Amino acid sequence: MSNPPSIFTRIIAREIPADIVFESDSIIAFRDIAPKAPLHILVVPKTEAYRNVTELAAADPGLLAEVVATAQLIASEHSDGQYRLIFNTGDNAGQTVFHVHAHVLGGTLTEGSLGF
Ligand code: 5GP
Repeated sequence: MSNPPSIFTRIIAREIPADIVFESDSIIAFRDIAPKAPLHILVVPKTEAYRNVTELAAADPGLLAEVVATAQLIASEHSDGQYRLIFNTGDNAGQTVFHVHAHVLGGTLTEGSLGF
């Protein structure tokens, strides 16, 4: 039996509303529901084949490069082009959704803080 779709797959399918800021054939990006910075956007590969960035990097480095390029595009369009990119990997590291995603944090971030 297959797993139920992730919350992000349900956003991609428009079953759950989200403030979508970017979409391509392979990637979607939307505002985090609980922002931790003035700009806090999630960049999500549409496939849920990869649970975390380690799996994504091993299996499809080109798609990981698209995630990074999308982060830069979003930071440039919605902030000053500077950003912090976070991939929580594992529940002890704060990962709650096991469908790989990058947190793009921008705006003025606290010096010396990880932002979370
Ligand atoms: P993680 O903790 O796995 O690194 O990140 C998951 C992120 O997804 C969290 O920052 C959380 O606020 C966000 N999130 C969870 N559910 C939803 C939702 O339904 N809509 C949006 N926009 N973000 C969500």
